[in-house]
Amino acid sequence: RVPSAAAAKAIASVESAYGASIEVLRGIVNSMMQEMRKGLAKENGAAMKMIISHVSNLPTGKEKGRFLALDLGGSNFRVLLLTLDGHGQCKSESDKYVLTQELMTGTGESLFDFIAESVQGFLESRGITETLPLGFTFSFPVQQESINSGKLIRWTKGFHASGVEGQDVGRLLNEAFARKGIKVNVAAIVNDTVGTQIARCLDDQNCYVGLILGTGSNTCYLEDVTAIPKWTGPAPKTGKVIINMEWGAFDDEIQRLPYTPHDRTMDAASINRGQQLFEKMISGMYLGEISRLVAVELAESGQLFQGTLTSKFREVQAFKTAMMSEIESDDTVDLSLTRDLLHREFGLPLNKITIDDRMIIKRICELVSTRAARIAAAGIVAVATKIAKTHDCTVAVDGTLFQRYPNFEHRLTAAVAELLPGISTKIHFKRSEDGSGKGAALVAALAQTQ
Ligand code: ADP
Repeated sequence: RVPSAAAAKAIASVESAYGASIEVLRGIVNSMMQEMRKGLAKENGAAMKMIISHVSNLPTGKEKGRFLALDLGGSNFRVLLLTLDGHGQCKSESDKYVLTQELMTGTGESLFDFIAESVQGFLESRGITETLPLGFTFSFPVQQESINSGKLIRWTKGFHASGVEGQDVGRLLNEAFARKGIKVNVAAIVNDTVGTQIARCLDDQNCYVGLILGTGSNTCYLEDVTAIPKWTGPAPKTGKVIINMEWGAFDDEIQRLPYTPHDRTMDAASINRGQQLFEKMISGMYLGEISRLVAVELAESGQLFQGTLTSKFREVQAFKTAMMSEIESDDTVDLSLTRDLLHREFGLPLNKITIDDRMIIKRICELVSTRAARIAAAGIVAVATKIAKTHDCTVAVDGTLFQRYPNFEHRLTAAVAELLPGISTKIHFKRSEDGSGKGAALVAALAQTQ
């Protein structure tokens, strides 16, 4: 179907704002590389933190034994046991536990005691009596000081347990184990991006990068220690270390990205205004809202829904990224699934949702999500170029946006091909699952050998 002239005009205006041209992408590659160097420098104050993870080797498959992971980052936490056979094979089992509001907002001691007791129950139910190393995925901002110590900068996501901010969470967990007489050794504190990369490395020797595309976005990669002026102390045997970029904040200072008025409005209404601007262009928490704001503007100027909007459609965050996925999957001739969704979710009258409207809405979703994929791809090209791995590099990816959004992977790959013409093997985006469980337990295994 071809849109009417008026609809084509509306679509063209969105295309020009959300096109993410190759020049824009090249600009991102260059400034991302610059900011990476800045974050690795000695005295930096850079927006992008480039945190040294202290993970210095990748798994080879020869790792053997039993390792634990503890995944804390939301209202559930999980304990996982990973058994490695020394030939690259592994098996895992895990249990989930619910954290009550009381535990999340009470004292740190009672929170860590509860976690320790849960681990104790997990070990007892499996008759495990030996001391096992544990990888702790702690999905809050941590200033990592060594592989198994790091201070909580601040709680997020509704946690307020007292006496934990500014403290070493590795020590707090070890102390809780000691109080209960539980034989577990906190071998590593693991960022989920690093876990994602490491989990994939077991069957992929060229996996140099980890990427999260979920509610938020972040990347890590394997760097040469000689390229890290802020490194202190002796170099690791491998001469390498994984850097957790915290790339969501990459543009916060310079603000060179082509922000649209919708990006600005969305940012202004967010709880962290002016922060994580790069993340806000590419991750699941924000794409729906940007699309909604584009649609509201078109409706207000009479170019969509004949100028009518429901109060539900005007609600901040009402349009979810998952709905964009649904709309982009709609391959009915008259986009009736899109019409039904708009009616069901926002109470828009069916007779107000013309075919033109459906085409405009679908195109908005395509443009906003394609911009996200292209910008993320430019960031990955910057990382691969910095470490001279553009010819053969696996990027391990986790997160619902990557896994569920139609064509997201294809759009990432297409943008990489545009940025790296003539290179045939290039950069491969591969799914990595359970970085915060399997990946974290593997990091605990690696921590024993480095
Ligand atoms: P998290 O990043 O919070 O650890 P996920 O990787 O599961 O967890 O990402 C959840 C995010 O994915 C949600 O916040 C939402 O923005 C996005 N999302 C959920 N469902 C879909 C979907 N069907 N298609 C695209 N994105 C989705």
